[in-house]
Order: sequence, then C-alpha cells, then structure tokens
Amino acid sequence: MSDQIILPTCTSCHRPITPHEPAVSFPCPNCGKVRIWRCRVCRELAREYTCPSCGFVGP
Ligand SMILES: [Zn+2]
Ligand SMILES: [Zn+2]
Repeated sequence: MSDQIILPTCTSCHRPITPHEPAVSFPCPNCGKVRIWRCRVCRELAREYTCPSCGFVGP
C-alpha cells in the first residue's frame, strides 16, 4: 500500500490530475494559502475556479 500515489485534483472539475498531464498549479492569488490546480481541459476552456479557503473566484 506504500506505493499508492495521491494525485492532486483539479480545482475546477475535481478530477484527479495524472503526473504526465500538462496541468498547472499556483497559490491562490487572493489568500495564498491554497494551491490551485487546473487540468489541461479546464485551462483550454478557461473554466473558473473557486479557492476552497477564501472563496475567491478567478479565471
Ligand atoms: Zn479540470
Ligand atoms: Zn484563496
């Protein structure tokens, strides 16, 4: 069980992000406490994300 990898989930669509996927992550621009993850699909569609910590909605 020690080889199980915990994948980050996309902040917009909540799907797990695979290690080879060209996803991006960055700290929340408002509070900086949470790392926002965006998968390739959400990046291409420019979906909104909501910070789970402060509720900030960004493009
Ligand atoms: Zn996504
Ligand atoms: Zn935030």
